[in-house]
Amino acid sequence: LRKATAQQLKEHNQRLVSKAIYTGQATSRAAIAQETRLTRPTVSQIVGELLQAGLVQEVGPGASSGGKPPMLLGFNDDAYQIIGLHVGGRNSIGAVTDLRGRILTRAVQPSARSEDEGVLLGLCLVLDELRAQATRPLLGIGVSAPGLVDYERGVVHYSANLGWRDLPLKEQLATRCGDRAPIFVDNDTNLAALGERVFGVGGGVDNMVIVMAGTRGIGAGVIINGEIYHGTTGGAGEIGHMPIADHGVPCVCGRQGCLEAVASGWALIRRAQEAAVLYPNSTLSTLAPDTFTFENVRQAVEAGDPVAVALAREAGRYLGLAVATLISTVNPQRVVVGGSVSELGEPFFDSLRCTVAEHTLSLLADQTEILPASLGTDVNALGAVAQVLMGELGLV
Ligand SMILES: [Zn+2]
Repeated sequence: LRKATAQQLKEHNQRLVSKAIYTGQATSRAAIAQETRLTRPTVSQIVGELLQAGLVQEVGPGASSGGKPPMLLGFNDDAYQIIGLHVGGRNSIGAVTDLRGRILTRAVQPSARSEDEGVLLGLCLVLDELRAQATRPLLGIGVSAPGLVDYERGVVHYSANLGWRDLPLKEQLATRCGDRAPIFVDNDTNLAALGERVFGVGGGVDNMVIVMAGTRGIGAGVIINGEIYHGTTGGAGEIGHMPIADHGVPCVCGRQGCLEAVASGWALIRRAQEAAVLYPNSTLSTLAPDTFTFENVRQAVEAGDPVAVALAREAGRYLGLAVATLISTVNPQRVVVGGSVSELGEPFFDSLRCTVAEHTLSLLADQTEILPASLGTDVNALGAVAQVLMGELGLV
């Protein structure tokens, strides 16, 4: 037990030192000692180990404060590479990055729907392709999956999109892909939150919420004190079916008035189909109703079609009600809104922000920035990369 404790302490100190160098907070041994409150000999010893491991390099002498100029240290962003993967309903996608989350290469394969084998095969193909293209040793593999995920065991308990139940994803990836690198699995929206926090518009804030409003559904990811908040069984942020509309719009879950039924991509397509019949002057009515896509709606909003713009504002209002609730529950510094619905632009965001201002105590609302997501379709894979950086090196 004593041995384990000494080992843990050493690892903790190592993480403090590498994080100080990684973030650029301290770049000389003396500054690191001051920053981390570790003794100079401890810092020198750890820096020696990090230099030997290739994670850190000496970059040259700094400015002298009278005596011998200090040797400055820099993080070696290329010491390892990381693979981030995302299993989507349509495609499995992934990327190889350096230790700053800079994407070096991407890969994509179709996910076969409702069939464990097919989806896993697509994911393994992406992984194989990326492994073959990695040019440095792998620090780890992060995987983003939809549904209820037990992140500690890497098991997907339930995913409606993929038809998965109690799938030991981490174990299966390790065996089927024959991988020895550490594997981290978490829910896609949780990882989207982490991705934006670390590499996107989250700006590293400690309390943050992301709302992903996509074509298939709506979910939230919550970060509290710098860490993903999972809840008791991994279900935190499952806001798609919270009651939000007081009228009886039917939802795919069998209930009525759910957030998803009024503000997701599929809800917008349905509303646009209805509007196309009711408003023959709208450009929406020039489209064939059964081949309507979300992209049609987005283009009509962009072109300023008044009916489409009203639909975008309506979705913004419903999402705004959900965001107001989240702000009052979590009191975050930032709320990031992503997913295809967020591409509806200014009418959508304006309506969302107005609704939040109207339904939140101004003391809370004034301190919460609401921003569109910035990482696009890379967001989940980059969140998975951040998870590896956090788990293996404690860097973010
Ligand atoms: Zn529902």
